[in-house]
Amino acid sequence: MYEEILPELIVENDTKLVLLVLDGLGGTTDDRGITELEAAHTPNMDALAKVGSCGLHRAVGYGITPGSGPAHLGLFGYNPLKYQIGRGILEAFGVGMDVGPGDLAMRGNFATMENGIITDRRAGRIPTELCEKLVEKLKDKITKIEDISVDIKAGRDYRFAVVLRGNGLSALLSDADPQMTGKPPVKAMPLSPIAEKTARIVNKFIDMATEILKDEHPANTVLLRGYAKLADIMTSTQKYGMRAVGIAVYPMYRGLARIVGMDCPDLPGESIEDEINMAKKLWNDYDFFFIHIKKTDSYGEDGNFDAKVKVIEEVDEKLPQILSLNPDVIAITGDHSTPSVLKSHSWHPVPLLIKGRYTFADDAQKFSERECAKGIIGHIPAEAIILLMMADAGRLKKFGA
Ligand code: ZN
Repeated sequence: MYEEILPELIVENDTKLVLLVLDGLGGTTDDRGITELEAAHTPNMDALAKVGSCGLHRAVGYGITPGSGPAHLGLFGYNPLKYQIGRGILEAFGVGMDVGPGDLAMRGNFATMENGIITDRRAGRIPTELCEKLVEKLKDKITKIEDISVDIKAGRDYRFAVVLRGNGLSALLSDADPQMTGKPPVKAMPLSPIAEKTARIVNKFIDMATEILKDEHPANTVLLRGYAKLADIMTSTQKYGMRAVGIAVYPMYRGLARIVGMDCPDLPGESIEDEINMAKKLWNDYDFFFIHIKKTDSYGEDGNFDAKVKVIEEVDEKLPQILSLNPDVIAITGDHSTPSVLKSHSWHPVPLLIKGRYTFADDAQKFSERECAKGIIGHIPAEAIILLMMADAGRLKKFGA
């Protein structure tokens, strides 16, 4: 947002900003008329809501249900429609692979082929352990094709991700996936002459994998699709003049933070406590701290209202530890809503709370969807959040005379 004027407005100082994201935080009312955030006992967030500014944000736009990828880019201040992250990259991030500039990432499925016909696109949904074994087999034999190095990692069930690294790779290819059973396998076709080499490599990969898997059953071939390269994106240091760190347990969110140039240290464990301890440890080394809590979304997707409430309460209980670091500005929000009544992400606006030195103490008395609707921030695009935080931290100077 405001990319054309931002470079001349940036001020560097030693303020500390914290963006605490509870994934899928927002909800919608259930048949009792309440949301998870309303049901949760959150004295610390409520106290902050009283003295801070509240509002609601939309990660992508009106009525749009976002995936976590675009939703996080929005939170980091990047237009999620302009910087789209391909499926292959999210798949690779999800299994903890690195995707660098120029790399080509894609999604893979193990599949079943009988008499030259794809009879199951998911190879009978083989278990993850078998998928891992088969990926090891492929990795042993396929490390390089022509001058391109090949990296493979198992995902869940029948899924895996492939990252190709080398010169001249292009994502302009058709899927090597017939999309339905009862058809012969299809080759990846270049959609532009610049993708001819990549198509050749992808098709060689499939041929080699099929040869290696020929005695396996039901997973005796592979399908590849969702080719993606990283968008050319300015890092948060270049864009905002802030050294940023992403503290997240799940690999996909670490990958998303890395796209915008955040460092993502390895954590010693997976608890909220481990994440907060990492923020404490790195407090002097960074300006901007993105802290990601995943389980709110997971329980929302499970339709488990009470478990989502518990995670919110746990974060609330730990919040004083973050506040004791004395951040100049803290924002608490979600990347999108995941109402447990829907068991999925949704388009509902996401509660947002910002507390800095100069934030307006509005009428919101509690951190909830309903109270945030009373707040002075109003309804904003997610992209604006980081600018409001920076303004309060004295990091944006006057525009024009
Ligand atoms: Zn999410």
